[in-house]
Amino acid sequence: MYLKVISLLFLLFSSFLSCTKIQAANETPFVKIGVLSHRGNEKTLKIWNPTANYLIAKLPQYDFEIVPLKFDQVESAVKDATVDFILVNSGIYVNLEAKYNVTRLATMINLRNDTPYSIFGGVIFTRSDREDIQTLEDTKGKSFMAVDETSLGGFQMAWRELNAKDIDPYSDFSRLEFGGIHDDVVMSVINKKIDVGTVRTDILERMSYAGTIDLKQIKIINPQYHQKFSLMHSTRLYPEWPFSQLPHVDPQLARQVAVALFQMPKDDPALLAGKYAGWSIPLDYHEVHALFKELKLPPYASLAQLTIIEAIKLYWYWVIASMIALLGLLSLTSLVVKRNRELKYRQSRLERQHQLINESVADGIYGVDLVGNCTFINKATVEMTGWTVEDLIGNNQHKILHHTHEDGTPHLRTDCPVYQSSFDNQPRFVADDIFWKKDGTYINVEYSCTPLRGIRGETRGSVVVFRDITARKQAQKHAQEHQSQLAHVGRLSTLGEMASGIAHELNQPLTAISTNARACIRLLESDIHNAESCADVMEKIASQAERAGGVIQHIRHFAHKELPNIKPAKISNMMTVVLDLVEREIKNKKIILKLDLDKDVPWVMAQDIQIEQVILNLVRNAIESLESMPKSKRKLIISTKKIPNNRLEVRVTDTGRGLKKVIREQLFEPFMTTKENGMGLGLSISQGIIEAHGDQIKVETPIAHSGVSFYFSLLQSSAEEVEKMKYA
Ligand code: ADP
Repeated sequence: MYLKVISLLFLLFSSFLSCTKIQAANETPFVKIGVLSHRGNEKTLKIWNPTANYLIAKLPQYDFEIVPLKFDQVESAVKDATVDFILVNSGIYVNLEAKYNVTRLATMINLRNDTPYSIFGGVIFTRSDREDIQTLEDTKGKSFMAVDETSLGGFQMAWRELNAKDIDPYSDFSRLEFGGIHDDVVMSVINKKIDVGTVRTDILERMSYAGTIDLKQIKIINPQYHQKFSLMHSTRLYPEWPFSQLPHVDPQLARQVAVALFQMPKDDPALLAGKYAGWSIPLDYHEVHALFKELKLPPYASLAQLTIIEAIKLYWYWVIASMIALLGLLSLTSLVVKRNRELKYRQSRLERQHQLINESVADGIYGVDLVGNCTFINKATVEMTGWTVEDLIGNNQHKILHHTHEDGTPHLRTDCPVYQSSFDNQPRFVADDIFWKKDGTYINVEYSCTPLRGIRGETRGSVVVFRDITARKQAQKHAQEHQSQLAHVGRLSTLGEMASGIAHELNQPLTAISTNARACIRLLESDIHNAESCADVMEKIASQAERAGGVIQHIRHFAHKELPNIKPAKISNMMTVVLDLVEREIKNKKIILKLDLDKDVPWVMAQDIQIEQVILNLVRNAIESLESMPKSKRKLIISTKKIPNNRLEVRVTDTGRGLKKVIREQLFEPFMTTKENGMGLGLSISQGIIEAHGDQIKVETPIAHSGVSFYFSLLQSSAEEVEKMKYA
């Protein structure tokens, strides 16, 4: 039931609404023209209603209405679109254009002293008797009066010209006043109340025409001349008031209004009432824009007027972000600067250290590039070689230091280890070489050459670090000589010790010779001339003499002071020499001798006499040790055995009393002996000899029996060396 009533009411309301719509559609639409009203609504309507009437007559389908707007009402009328067209001064227009897209349709042609002008300007003036004011610059420090702060012709146009001369009306004048009415400004200047004034163009001419002033009393400052503008003016010229449409207006209506305005006849009452001469096509208003921009006035004032605090409030996030970025940048920069300073400091410290090391190191150091030229040298190089920095840097090191071997044969550049290291990128160590000095002599050197690599690993040359080993070589030579001397003395002393044995050795054949000689004499003296028997005896004599000669030969050979010379030597020969010298002793002391030589290795590299001396020392020590043993336990084994690395082990083993504890640790030290008449030199000399042969004497205590086993090794001779030796 209720539902039915509601739907009925709804139907009634809808039919009422549609009736109203039909009625409105039948009415003539209103077109509102807002007009800036200076002088009150009544006066404005009186001036502009005839123009509205003209438009109604031209476009009867519309009802045009004038809406007077006070200065502060203009913006809201446009913003709220309560008017359709608007007629305001050029200054207000550019603001509306910038803010609300208002578009000009026509520019008013004004009547100035009965002459039509669609442009106007400002005039700056003083009294003609003011000699001190000739140019705009002269107005500085003077009192100045304009019409209104917002008046385009009555202030802003003059301000733009002053601004171009860097004169700020607000700070550079002694006084800035606004008269409100153009005529008051003129009269204030004439009456000497003010020094300089500015008004819109045509005011002065109009007042003069009315007899209010005499133009002779006036002097125009910064006068301008324009072909199509005869009125006095001091500023650039700007277009008159535009008639504009709001964006919501139908373009067709706007076009019709513009055409109607352009076609307004010269005698139309609208012109008379509005005191204007008609409408022209819209002029260019960019000069007005430029003025507002230059003076930073609305609509271009917002940024200029923004205080720092306002800007911070508005863009605080940007400010904070910029500050953070700036702080970050600053801390980064300071960090970089700090690091840079540290790096520089470290670099210079490193350079100093490097230089110090280079200068203080005792070894010679020099750098070589890929072609073998010296790139740097240190102080020690100069001191050791005598060559100066100038001699070496940039010159070939091989030609200077390395050209000839010690024996005088040329040292080929291709064999030069320094050059080779740069070439094959391999480090090298040379233990024994020579560098030629500037004075023509040479030094013995050992050196290393290390390839110098660039950042990408490429070889850029090499660094040579060398040491003068001349003194060491000399010492080695002396030591060798000394060693040889010692060995010689050792041998003589051994022979001395063995003198009785040797004498006995010689005595035997000599006794045999003498006995046989006597037997031979007896044979010859007897009647029995038995030549055969005689020859036999003589034979024996000869053989005994040979034996004695052999022993003497061995003694001479053993006592001989040889030159150090390692060459192939037959191990069996050396054994024979030794055994010849101790044969009798072994026999007398009932020692069982076992000689076990490795047949595969008959030749070794040795200085034979010295090795014989070593074996003899070891054998005699063994014999002496065996003396204290019961006769049944006296056994001496001399053996050789092939061992790895192409060497032959020589071993002397006895079943004697073994090593005494006190001597074990210092066995090879000179003068260490446990014997009453011992010298303690045998083992120390022997050790020196074996070291010179590239090994050391070692001791073992065989587990199977008491006693000691001394052994050392010698390098085997190659077949070629043996051959060479045989044919030498
Ligand atoms: P010396 O024979 O004049 O004492 P060595 O240098 O030849 O000098 O020997 C030093 C010492 O080493 C000997 O005094 C001895 O005590 C010990 N020695 C050497 N060879 C043997 C050995 N085969 N058995 C036991 N002791 C030995």
